Amino acid sequence: MKFSEMKYERPDIEASKKYAGQIKQKFIDAKSFEAADKAFMEWDKFTLHIDTMMSLAYTRSSIDTTDEYYEKEVEYIDEFSPVFTDIQHSFVKLVVNSRFRPQLEEKYGSLMFKNAEIFLKAFSPEIIPETQETNKLETEYQKLIASAQIDFDGEKKTISQLFPYKQSPDDEIRRSAWSAEAGFYSEHGKELDEIYDKLVKLRDKKAKKLGYDNFVKLGYLQMNRNCYTAEDVDKFRKAVVKYIVPLADRLYREQAKRTGLEYPLTFADASLRFRDGNPKPQGTPEEILETGKKLYHELSDESAEFIDVMLDNELMDVLSKKGKAGGGYCTQLADYKVPFIFANFNGTADDVEVITHEAGHAFAYYIARNIVPSDNQSPTLEACEVHSMTMEFFGWHKSDEFFGKDAAKFRYSHLFGAITFIPYGTMVDHFQHLVYENPEMAPDQRHQVWRELLRVYMPWMKLDGSPFYGEGKGWQRQLHIYENPFYYIDYCFAQTAALEFWTVMQKSHEEAWQRYMRLVRKAGIQTFIELIDTAGLKSPFEGDALKEVAENAGEWLDSNGI
Ligand SMILES: [Zn+2]
Repeated sequence: MKFSEMKYERPDIEASKKYAGQIKQKFIDAKSFEAADKAFMEWDKFTLHIDTMMSLAYTRSSIDTTDEYYEKEVEYIDEFSPVFTDIQHSFVKLVVNSRFRPQLEEKYGSLMFKNAEIFLKAFSPEIIPETQETNKLETEYQKLIASAQIDFDGEKKTISQLFPYKQSPDDEIRRSAWSAEAGFYSEHGKELDEIYDKLVKLRDKKAKKLGYDNFVKLGYLQMNRNCYTAEDVDKFRKAVVKYIVPLADRLYREQAKRTGLEYPLTFADASLRFRDGNPKPQGTPEEILETGKKLYHELSDESAEFIDVMLDNELMDVLSKKGKAGGGYCTQLADYKVPFIFANFNGTADDVEVITHEAGHAFAYYIARNIVPSDNQSPTLEACEVHSMTMEFFGWHKSDEFFGKDAAKFRYSHLFGAITFIPYGTMVDHFQHLVYENPEMAPDQRHQVWRELLRVYMPWMKLDGSPFYGEGKGWQRQLHIYENPFYYIDYCFAQTAALEFWTVMQKSHEEAWQRYMRLVRKAGIQTFIELIDTAGLKSPFEGDALKEVAENAGEWLDSNGI
C-alpha cells in the first residue's frame, strides 16, 4: 500500500485501555500454553497497531510541520504515549511472571524476557507526569530548530538548507554560513539552555522516583543496555583517546596542509576536506535515487526486492522542503510490514548517506518483518546502527556512479569521517555522563564541561575567537542530547563494527556481505555482543578492536590520500 493511502486514526485512551484489559484477562484465564500464547500474539498485534498510528502521526507531522491536524495529533500522542507505556508495562509484568514463561522462552528465546525485565525496571506509572513533560519539551526543542529562518545569501534559510554553504570551498561563504548558524543558536541560547535544564532535572527526578541515585542508571535501562555496563563504556572511551584521537589529529593536520588553512582549525575550516571542495554527488536527486536502486539490485535478491517495495509505495520522503523537520530517520509502519525513510536531500554527500544509512536500517527491518513476536525483530540500537553504518560502506560499490569524478574524494572523506566521528560521538556521551551525574550544574558550567572535553577529544579544534562553538555551546545543536539521552555512544560502537566490516570488504566484498547478512538475519534475537560474534568481529569493548581499526583505516588513508 502507498504511504498516502495508509489510514491514520487517533488511538483512543479509553478504548485502548479496554481492549488491553480484555487481552490481559484472556492471558490470565489461559488454561493451556496454547491459549496463553494466543493472547500473547493478540497483544503483539495490538501494540504494533498503536505503534503504527504513532509513527504515521509523527512522520506526517515531520514531513509538514505546518500541518495543523498532525501537529495536534503529535501533541495528543505526546500525552498518550506514556499512558500507553503504562498499559504495556502491566502486560509485560504479567508475562514475565507467568507460569507459562518457560514455554514462551523456549518458543521465542530468552533475550526478550531479559529485555522485558529491564523495561520493568525503567518504568513505573509514577513517572508518567514527568515523561509527558519531557515529551513536550522535546517537541519544543524540535520546533525551535525547525523554525529557524536564517538570513543568508539574500534569502531565509532553514538549518538543513544552510548545510551545503557550511561546506563551501569559498572560505568567505563557508565561514559566514557557520557564523550565521552560530548566530541563530546564540540568539536562542537562553531558550536552549532552559529547555535542557528542565529536561535534565525532570530526568533526574524520574530516576530518583524509581530509586536510582541519578539518571545515568535509568538512562542505561531506557537504552536497554543488556550486555555491557558503564565501566565497559569507560574502557571504550579510554581506547578512543589512546588509538583514535591521535589518528584523527594526524588526519586534521594533513587536512590543514592540504587546504592551506591554519592548524588548529576553526570549526568552519575543519569542515573543508579538500581545497577544491568536498565531494558532491553527481546528478539530480532522482538520479541519486536511481543509482541507489541499482546498488540494492546488485547487492542481493533480497535487497533488490526491498528497494522496489520502498520506491513503489512512496516509502521514501527525501527531498528538502520548507516546513519539513530537519534530519533524517527511518521508522516502521508495522501494520503494513514496511519501513519508511525520511530525509532532507541537500546536494551534498549526505544524500548518498540517506540512501545507504537510513536504507540500511530499513533493509534490516524488511528482512526481520515476519519474525514474531515483534520484540524479536529489532536488536538494541547500537546493533541497529551496525546495520546502517555498514551499509554505508557497502555503498562504496556504487561510489563511482554516485560521485563521478569525486568518487575517490568521497571514499577518502567517508573513511576520514568514520574515524573522526568516533571521538566526537564519545565526547557527546561523556558529556551526558557528567551532566546527569551532576544535575545541579548551571548552564554555564555545562558549557565549560563541553569546552574541556573538546580539548581531550578534538584537540585539532581552535576554540578561541569562535562564537558559540568555541564557547562550549556546540552541544546544543545535537538533537540526541535533548531527545535521546545516552543514545549517541551507540553510533560509536556501531562505527567500530562497521569499520571492522569495512576491513573485511577490502579483502572480499562477498565474504563481508555474507557475514553482514548473518548478523542482519539474527535481527533482535541476540544481544549486540552476540551479534558481533555472529559476524565474526571483535567486540568494541576490547581495546584491540579500536587499535586494529585505527591501523587499517590509517594505512588505507595514507595510501589513498588525494
Ligand atoms: Zn541510524
